[in-house]
Amino acid sequence: MIGAPSVLSSIPVVLDDLPLRVDRDEVLRFQGYKKGIDVPTGDVVALFDEALHLGEQLMRPRAVYRALRVDGQGADLIEVAGERLNIPEILRLWGRLEAVGGAICTVGDDIETRVRALFDQREFPLAVMLDSVGSAAVESLAEFVNDLLCQGGLAAGLRVTNRVSPGYAGWDTAEQAALWRLCSGAPIGVTLNSSCFMTPAKTISFLVGIGPEARVDHYFSQCRRCWMRDCAYRRAPAETSIHR
Ligand code: SF4
Repeated sequence: MIGAPSVLSSIPVVLDDLPLRVDRDEVLRFQGYKKGIDVPTGDVVALFDEALHLGEQLMRPRAVYRALRVDGQGADLIEVAGERLNIPEILRLWGRLEAVGGAICTVGDDIETRVRALFDQREFPLAVMLDSVGSAAVESLAEFVNDLLCQGGLAAGLRVTNRVSPGYAGWDTAEQAALWRLCSGAPIGVTLNSSCFMTPAKTISFLVGIGPEARVDHYFSQCRRCWMRDCAYRRAPAETSIHR
């Protein structure tokens, strides 16, 4: 069991040897399959199994996390450490915050290197499936870290919100740079270029809100798909899926 970092740690915390749980439905969703509607053939399932086996050997899930005190909040604004994060409706969604936490999660670049090699070898189906395995894996990794923070926060009497990433929910991708000034990916070998593109590409950055009054009205849905099976604060039984 991975121990939760202190959710208020202003010193970057590196999380290594993190578990991955790659959900087949999630992988196929990246390929355009609709759950419950599109049924994969035996060939597709075999290809998924091959790509998953390969991916598990190539991926190295890691994350870095850092928290900072919030200096001010507006309806669509969080002020922290001299940065102004413009996130639509964030006050309504997250409520009053004591701090925010930034996280960068990656499965590394070996999987991308192998995907490129497979394309060069014209092994297109396996290349595409392996790429989707990497995408689903980093998504599940970000969920795991979010869950770890949720559990660690509750143990300290603090609520940790769901995650939000630049480029989603109306948060401008350009603010990726501001998020990185709060929590750099350098300790885990992730870089950010001037176009806000992260390398390795199978990387997710996110922000969470933290505080005793932080709004977490999604606990029931969150708990249902949460990894923390033995969480003492669980509000709803766990389901097997890791879908958001
Ligand atoms: S089970 Fe619920 S309360 Fe516990 S860590 Fe998961 S999301 Fe948070």
